[in-house]
Amino acid sequence: APVIVWFRNDLRLSDNPALSHAVASGRPVLCLFVHDPQHAREHALGAAAQWWLDGGLRALHADLARMGAVLHVACGDALALVPRMAAQAGAAEVVWNRRYDPLGRETDTAIKATLKHAGVIAHSFAAGVLYEPWTVRTRAGDAFRVFTAWWRAARASGEPLPPLPAPGHVHAAVSPGAWEGCCVGIDALRLVPVSPDWAGGLREAWQPGEAQARDRLHHFVDGGLGGYADARDRPDLPATSRLSPDLRFGHISPRQAWHAAVAAVRGGAAGGMGEQDLEKFLSELGWRDFAVSLLYAQPELVSCNFRTEFDAMPWRNDARDLCAWQQGRTGYPIVDAGMRQLWRTGWMHNRVRMIVASFLTKHLLCDWRMGEAWFRDTLVDADIASNVINWQWVAGCGVDAAPYFRVFNPVLQARRFDPDGTYVRRWVPELAGVPTSCVHAPWTCDPAIRARVAYPSPIVDLQGGRARALAAWKGLSDAP
Ligand code: FAD
Repeated sequence: APVIVWFRNDLRLSDNPALSHAVASGRPVLCLFVHDPQHAREHALGAAAQWWLDGGLRALHADLARMGAVLHVACGDALALVPRMAAQAGAAEVVWNRRYDPLGRETDTAIKATLKHAGVIAHSFAAGVLYEPWTVRTRAGDAFRVFTAWWRAARASGEPLPPLPAPGHVHAAVSPGAWEGCCVGIDALRLVPVSPDWAGGLREAWQPGEAQARDRLHHFVDGGLGGYADARDRPDLPATSRLSPDLRFGHISPRQAWHAAVAAVRGGAAGGMGEQDLEKFLSELGWRDFAVSLLYAQPELVSCNFRTEFDAMPWRNDARDLCAWQQGRTGYPIVDAGMRQLWRTGWMHNRVRMIVASFLTKHLLCDWRMGEAWFRDTLVDADIASNVINWQWVAGCGVDAAPYFRVFNPVLQARRFDPDGTYVRRWVPELAGVPTSCVHAPWTCDPAIRARVAYPSPIVDLQGGRARALAAWKGLSDAP
C-alpha cells in the first residue's frame, strides 16, 4: 500500500521530513498537492502569491520527475478530497508537514480524524518553523507577548535541528486510475494572469523554485550577510536575503537558512560577516516564528485588534487616499517608491513596508486591515501571520507594538535610510533628475525644477496628518 505525501507550504525535496519519512518507509510514494481556493475564503492566496505558486509547483514537478516521481495536482475541497483520494489509492498512510495558521490547523485536524476513522495512518511533522508555537512558553505555560522574552526562551531551548538531505530517489507508486478524475494539470489551476498579463515585473524579479531559493540563500550567506546588521535598513542597498517568498512557500526551510548562516560565519566564508550580523539575521528568522506563535495563541488576531481599545478608532478610510497610496501617488517619494516596487515586483523592503504602513494608518488614518488586504493581494511573500502581526505592530494596536504616538516622518526616514535618493529615483523615475537635497521632499525644490517634474503634490500635510492621528488616538486613551 502506498504512502501519500501531501505538499502544502513546503514545496521542496530537501529538509522535508514528511517526504523523507515516506521514502524511508520503503512503501511506494504518491506526491499530492491540493489547490483549495474555496475553502481558504478570505485568506485565499492573493494574485501575486498565486503567480508564485504556479512557478513553485512547476519547479517541484520537475524536481520530483528527476527523482522518478510525479506531482499529482488536484483542485477542490481538501477536506473531502484528501480522504477520498487516500481511499482510492488504498493508501496505508498520509503524511504532511504541519501548518500553524487557524484555517490550516482546523482543516488538518478534521482530515486527520477522517483518515483515522478510515483506518489510514495520518502523520505530521515539524518543518515550517524553527520553534513550534507550543514549545516556547512562559514559566506559567502561557504564550509570550514580547519578542525579546520569547526569543530568549526560544534560544535557551536549543539550536534548531540540522536540516535533512533530499532523498536520493523516490520509489514512486503507480498513479491510481481513479485519481484521473480529480487530478488536473498545473495550467488548469489558472494561477497566472492572462488578460491582462500584469506579471511581467514579477517574472523579471523572480524565479520560484527550490534550486533558485538555494542560490539566493548561498549568495546571501557567502556575501550579503557581511554588514547585514547595519545595512538591512537601507532599501537602496542589496543588503537583505530576499528569501521571504522562498520561506513562505517552503522552497527552503528556516532551519536551512539558520544553519547555512551559522556555517558561513563559523567557516569564515561570510564576506566579513560578524557575530552581530549573524545574530541579527537569526533574530529576523525569529520574528517570523514569533508571528506564527502569536497567531497560534490568538487566531482572532487575523482580523481583530490585539489592543481592543482600537476597536473604537475613528478611522477615516478615505477611498481616494487609499487609492493614491495603492498606486504610489501620495506625493511622498519614499512611500510612492515602496508602493510602486510592490506593484511591479511583488516585494518591498522591510523598512519601507514600515514607512508605508505607518503613513497609511497614521497620516491617512486608514484602518490597518485595508493595508493588510492590499499587501495580501500584491506581495509574493504574503503570509497570514507575518502580514497581520506586522500591520498591527506598525499601527500600534498589536502585540509588543510601537506606541501609536510614534509616527514615522516619511521625509526624515527617507533621508536617513536612502541618503542619496537612489531607491526613490529607481522606483519614481519622474524624480530621477531632482537634486539629492530635495529628492525626498520635491515641494522644496527650486520652482524651476519643480515645474519640470510631473510628480503629484502631497495628499496630506505631514504636521496636520500627524496631529489628526494623535487626536484620534488620544480620544481612545481618554475614553473611560
Ligand atoms: P531578511 O532581512 O533577509 O530576513 C530574513 C527572513 O526573516 C525574511 O525572509 C522573513 O522570513 C523573516 N523576517 C524578516 N523580518 C521579519 C518581520 N518583521 N516579521 C516576520 N518575519 C520577518 N514578511 C513576510 O514574509 N510576509 C508578509 O506578508 C509580510 N508582511 C509585512 C507587512 C508589514 C506592514 C511589515 C512592516 C512587514 C511585513 N513582513 C512580511 C516582514 C518583512 O518585511 C519581510 O519578511 C522582509 O522584508 C523580507 O525580506 P528579506 O527576505 O530580504 O528579509
